[in-house]
Amino acid sequence: MSIIVQKYGGTSVGTIERIQAVAQRVKKNHDQGIQMVVVLSAMSGETNRLTALANQLHGSPSAREMDVLLATGEQVTIALLSMALHAIDCPARSYTGGQVTIRTDNQHSKARIQDIDDHRVRDDLKAGKVVIIAGFQGIDVDGNITTLGRGGSDTTAVAMAAALKADECQIFTDVDGVYTTDPRIVNEARKLDVLTYEEMLELASLGSKVLQIRSVEFASKYNVPLRVLSSFTDEGQGTQGTLITKEEKNMERPHIAGIAVNKDEAKITILGVPDKPGMASTILTKIADANIGVDMIIQNTSQEDSTDFTFTVNRSDFKQAMTIVRTLATELDAQDIIADNKVVKVSIVGVGMRSHAGIASKMFQILSAAQINIGMISTSEIKISVVIDEKYHELAVRELHHGFELERL
Ligand code: ADP
Ligand code: ASP
Ligand code: MG
Repeated sequence: MSIIVQKYGGTSVGTIERIQAVAQRVKKNHDQGIQMVVVLSAMSGETNRLTALANQLHGSPSAREMDVLLATGEQVTIALLSMALHAIDCPARSYTGGQVTIRTDNQHSKARIQDIDDHRVRDDLKAGKVVIIAGFQGIDVDGNITTLGRGGSDTTAVAMAAALKADECQIFTDVDGVYTTDPRIVNEARKLDVLTYEEMLELASLGSKVLQIRSVEFASKYNVPLRVLSSFTDEGQGTQGTLITKEEKNMERPHIAGIAVNKDEAKITILGVPDKPGMASTILTKIADANIGVDMIIQNTSQEDSTDFTFTVNRSDFKQAMTIVRTLATELDAQDIIADNKVVKVSIVGVGMRSHAGIASKMFQILSAAQINIGMISTSEIKISVVIDEKYHELAVRELHHGFELERL
């Protein structure tokens, strides 16, 4: 008998009517004899609402208590869906992450799943019940409630699918698949039928928030077929969504699968750093010690024994990074600091890039024709990223989408 894990995001369970629509879809599958596991997010806006409540009481609320608070959002929707299924005579049972048990480490607000005890879920499935699980949460070894980071319900769903060796993990959301770029930016964005894990991983890491990065890592590691679908189209009439799967040997891939934008970037340059061994290490160790992740790094060839050192950090870490850099600049006797927290990173991604030259130069030509200045560049085998002024990001994405003809099949 096949097992399917379905995950419904916030907008898909945002109202009582939406929850009833989810119940109908789940029941239809259940009636066909499929063993159904359903993972839910909180109602849309709820996680933000709870966060705002906490911020009214404390400037930096305890991470442990934040997790106790935020985990309630998902507890509401799982109970409501279970009731909605009972109302249409479909047996169902809901579980919080801790009840399953989904064991995580103790890193509140960004916990990682370590282990899943799925015996309760399996028993219920065997007894013919739909099992509903709260996304985004788990429990640590001391019994503390933990959460998996924003968008974490995707990861709960894929991890459950891996544990149960499900036939497919279906992520239901408000778009009918993964698009060549965020359809909110480019109207002509095209839905992709297939993506490789590697491409989706890059797109997610580079800013396409349609799936949480960890969920794609899990899917790739355990080879879980992952499908992104819309909960707003009727079954049968709807599309097949986007299937994310492993790259097969003779798989035809376009040069570019998609474009991602990361709006959380900030750029810091230390001018006139002495050009001698150990400088990069001194700077980056201080930043890493403050638990700040560094994304792109550039160091230029020097003139007269000094060099300029540029790197990017997440905007939320910008203030703290600047405090560290100011101290460092004095210690290193650097000339000056230039900082800009109004930059974005735009990236083109595709495994087809591996076998094609000229993609980077074409990207730069398109940006130059649109009079967009490139601040930084970084490349890997399957992606090219540029850092540009925030105010041009929509223009850049549109021009690249059009220039590479991504709206065409
Ligand atoms: P959910 O609440 O269901 O988890 P999310 O808001 O997390 O939904 O993810 C869906 C949203 O992701 C879409 O509404 C869309 O605006 C955005 N998105 C960003 N990049 C893409 C992309 N390449 N393809 C599809 N959607 C994208
Ligand atoms: N409710 C959480 C969030 O808004 C988790 C999720 O929806 O995936 O980020
Ligand atoms: Mg999401």
